[in-house]
Amino acid sequence: MKTIESSEVMQQTSEAFRLNKQTIGLVPTMGFFHEGHLELMRAGKRLTDQLVVSIFVNPYQFGPTEDYEMYPRDIEGDLSKARDVGVDVVFCPPVEDMYPSGFQTSVVVQEVTKHLCGLSRPSHFEGVTTVVAKLFNITMPHLAVFGQKDYQQLTIISRMVKDLNMDIKIVGIPIVREPDGLAMSSRNSYLSSEERKSALSLKKALDLAKQLFHEGETNPDKIIAEVKQLIRSHPKTEIDYVKMCHPVSLQDVETMEEKSLLALAVKVGKTRLIDNCLISKASE
Ligand code: AMP
Repeated sequence: MKTIESSEVMQQTSEAFRLNKQTIGLVPTMGFFHEGHLELMRAGKRLTDQLVVSIFVNPYQFGPTEDYEMYPRDIEGDLSKARDVGVDVVFCPPVEDMYPSGFQTSVVVQEVTKHLCGLSRPSHFEGVTTVVAKLFNITMPHLAVFGQKDYQQLTIISRMVKDLNMDIKIVGIPIVREPDGLAMSSRNSYLSSEERKSALSLKKALDLAKQLFHEGETNPDKIIAEVKQLIRSHPKTEIDYVKMCHPVSLQDVETMEEKSLLALAVKVGKTRLIDNCLISKASE
C-alpha cells in the first residue's frame, strides 16, 4: 500500500493507473476508521482495480463553533486498517496542499443543500462539495463510494456529478451499525457511557416510525411527533431536526409517499449525531 501526501504525486499516480487501463475507485473520508469506512473500502475494492482512500479532515466544512480541532485522528491506526482491507493507495494531504494561499474557488449545489443539515450547518455542504470536487480532480476515479449514513451528502454529490458532467459512478453503501443499532460514526468516540445509552434513541426512533407506518399511519406530522417524544424521553438529548422528506428532492412531504426518507439530527450531550432510514411498504 502506498501512502501519498502530495496532490501532484497523487495525480501522477492516477494518470499512470489510467494509462495502464486500470479502473480507479475513491473512498473519501476524514479518517478515524470504523467498520462503516471499511465496508465502503471493501465495496470499492470489489468494483475497481486500484482503490484510493483519502483521509482529510477538511477545515472548510466545519463551522466556526464546530469540532474541527478536536475531531478524532489516528493516522497510524487508519493506515493499518486500510492495509488489512487491501487498499492500494492512501492519500492524506496536509491542509496547505489542499488549500494553498490564494485559494478562492468553491462548488455550490443550490437546492438539495438547503434542507436538513443545511439549515443548521449553513456552509457545511459548500465545504464538502468543494473538497470532493478537488479529490475527484486529484485522484481521477472512475467510481467513488459514499455511505448512506450521510444521506444528504450522497444526494448532493450525485447531483454535483450529474450537473457538472463528471464521468464518475457514485455508489452508496447502507448504514453500518453497532450490534445494538447505533450507527457507526467517528464522533461516537465523544460519547460518555450515559450519552452512549441515550444515543440509541435515534435508531429506536427510526424503528418506531417504520412500525407506525406499517400499522397504517400516513400522516408524517403524527409520526414525527411520536419520534420526537421518544427521543426527548432519553436524557441529554436535544433535537436539531426530525424530518420526513422526499428521498430525492429532500423537501418535506405532506403525506407519506411511495418511499419517504426519515432523517434525524440529535445532539446527545455536546455530540451531534445523524441517522436516517427509508420508509416504504417494502421496508421491514
Ligand atoms: P467520514 O469519515 O465520517 O467523513 O465518512 C466517510 C464516509 O464514510 C462517508 O461517505 C460516510 O457516509 C461513510 N460512513 C460513515 N459512517 C458510516 C456508517 N456507519 N455506515 C456507512 N457509511 C458510513
